[in-house]
Amino acid sequence: MIKIGPTDTTFILTGAGISAESGIPTFRDVGGLWEGWSPEKVATPEAWQADAYLVWRFYSERRKRAVEVKPNPAHYALAQLETKLQDRLFVCTQNVDPLHEQAGSRRVVHMHGELMKSRCDRCSRAAFADQQTYFDAVPRCACGGRIRPHVCWFGEFPYKMDTVFPVLENCGVFVTIGSSGRVEPAASFPLWAGSARKYYIGAEEPENAMFFDEVFIGKAGELVPKLFEV
Ligand code: NAD
Repeated sequence: MIKIGPTDTTFILTGAGISAESGIPTFRDVGGLWEGWSPEKVATPEAWQADAYLVWRFYSERRKRAVEVKPNPAHYALAQLETKLQDRLFVCTQNVDPLHEQAGSRRVVHMHGELMKSRCDRCSRAAFADQQTYFDAVPRCACGGRIRPHVCWFGEFPYKMDTVFPVLENCGVFVTIGSSGRVEPAASFPLWAGSARKYYIGAEEPENAMFFDEVFIGKAGELVPKLFEV
């Protein structure tokens, strides 16, 4: 069990594994490919410079799929936990899908961006909600720049770290759910969590397993709803 005391702030880091049972494939499930695509070809600044049209085809395909998927019991369990803990629960996700919010979570930081948002690659216009698909052309901003997915690509700096780190450094309980422990900086989050009690929940032992006090092996949809004791 993961016991949360009356004064503990709980930091939850989620990865692709929490959305696997909703039907969104993880990297590892498909042998390092991402829904059949090589990440270097579609999820790097170099890919955007080389072929922005191809990048948009990839993300448009994912947007099309995202409207078909639904949260699973793990997403709902975290939303319920938030109703109990209120602002003592903080969810930081590496996922770009909107499944935490769809399940009812309100305090969620998307450190790798959001699939259903876009932004300009030139001006400082804020990221905006955008569910459209772009299979035929790369959309343009009023400034002349190109509209890109609001997603943190490999080689880019994750978003909202100034919000994440103070919570991480001061939490009493740290839990990672469904993340292979290979992608930085998230893989080092348990180190930053200092003296917190640290737990991992996922289908297999992660590469950073040594940083956790306890590792629970199993599907997120089965374990998350029953592991937390408030
Ligand atoms: P990853 O693909 O590297 O690892 C996924 C982990 O989830 C694996 O360790 C696997 O054992 C575990 N897993 C698989 N099925 C599970 C289940 N049913 N329950 C619990 N665990 C399960 O994912 P990552 O560590 O999040 O890092 C990969 C990068 O890919 C991230 O940057 C993320 O943004 C991105 N990504 C996002 C999505 C999404 O938005 N849903 C999907 C794929 C990849």
